[in-house]
Amino acid sequence: MVINCPRGTADIFGDDISYRDFIIESAKKLFKLFNYSEIITPAFEHTEVFNRGIGQSTDIVKKEMYTFPDKKGRSLTLRPEGTAPVVRAIIEHKLYSKVPIKLFYVENMFRYERPQKGRMREFWQLGVEAAGVNSPLIDAEVIWLLALIFEELGFKNLKLLVNSVGCDDCRPPYINVFKKYIEPQVESLCPDCRERYNTNPLRIFDCKVRSCGTIIEDSPKIYSHLCSGCTQHFKAVTSLLKSLNISFAVKEDLVRGFDYYTRTIFEIISEDLESVQNALGGGGRYDRLIEQFGGPPVPSIGFAVGIDRTIVLMKQLNISCMQNEQENNVFVILLEQEFEGYGLEFLSYLRKHGIRCDISFEIKKIAAQIKWAEKNGFTHTAIIGGDEASSGIITVKRLKDFKQSQLNWKKDPQEINDIL
Ligand SMILES: [Zn+2]
Ligand SMILES: [Zn+2]
Repeated sequence: MVINCPRGTADIFGDDISYRDFIIESAKKLFKLFNYSEIITPAFEHTEVFNRGIGQSTDIVKKEMYTFPDKKGRSLTLRPEGTAPVVRAIIEHKLYSKVPIKLFYVENMFRYERPQKGRMREFWQLGVEAAGVNSPLIDAEVIWLLALIFEELGFKNLKLLVNSVGCDDCRPPYINVFKKYIEPQVESLCPDCRERYNTNPLRIFDCKVRSCGTIIEDSPKIYSHLCSGCTQHFKAVTSLLKSLNISFAVKEDLVRGFDYYTRTIFEIISEDLESVQNALGGGGRYDRLIEQFGGPPVPSIGFAVGIDRTIVLMKQLNISCMQNEQENNVFVILLEQEFEGYGLEFLSYLRKHGIRCDISFEIKKIAAQIKWAEKNGFTHTAIIGGDEASSGIITVKRLKDFKQSQLNWKKDPQEINDIL
């Protein structure tokens, strides 16, 4: 019986690796420019980290976590997102004593969701967390970084959506106003939203069911119920974004799937993609989370980007992941088994010169070997037989036009650089 990988997981290889490397490498360059350093947290945590961090009433904690007892009966959970583990680490290692601290991660996450294109049960995210800054300056810088990541990748027509979800002072009274407004129509909400009405009413704004959308369309929005502190903060963020020439839109009904957000939240979408799932990445401020975890009050902000999702969208939008022209590389063809040792010596020479190369591991007809080399992306071949071994001169052939060059590689080792 053939065994496949579990539903919602995937093997990543070939083309997807090129896209993935391109995305991660170009993001890492930006992280460095913005003075972020990397953090790697464990793939699983004590379940409590996510119950406390993400919020008991969120879909993630209620339905989507991979939670299991270990052999000693402790409850562990595969991380479904990156912020709660980083917050746990910031407290555990007292990193808050060196704030402001800027951290980035590139990690796999796990959520038990219905798999679809660009949404897997094991998926990869890159993200940042900046802890210890209250100033709106960091909000603007973090949003700027998110926008730059996609710009660098070659995305055009991006749109930034920003909103404020208020703070502990202004959100609870707003939620009361909102619930009062919805109350007469609670029975017309979808079953999920009827539950959200009691546990996490703001999440109703996330509902994709059309009748729910109609009910909340004209409802009061948090934006017009912000306290003066939150209003000022948000105004400062938007004015800084303007001075960075970043185009954005205030979306007053924007909410995000985690309970921990306070004040600024944001999402970046591609206007080229019409689907409802056009968000490329997003994040927000979480000023209370570190405190809720038992640390000191450390206002923080972060975002996450789905790598798999970005790959799907790059392909859909025909964005290339090729940065450079293809590098030259050599396929070494052996004519006789007795020259294997000589062949290996030649491989070693090429590799020392930084040239990617491979060798024919079996003796086969030359024509078949050359065909194989062409099909597998080699730009040059080098044939090794008795003449080559005795004279030390190897013929290197460029496959695209069959131009041949003689390489006296032992006598003149630098010659290879002129030939390739
Ligand atoms: Zn407020
Ligand atoms: Zn609904």
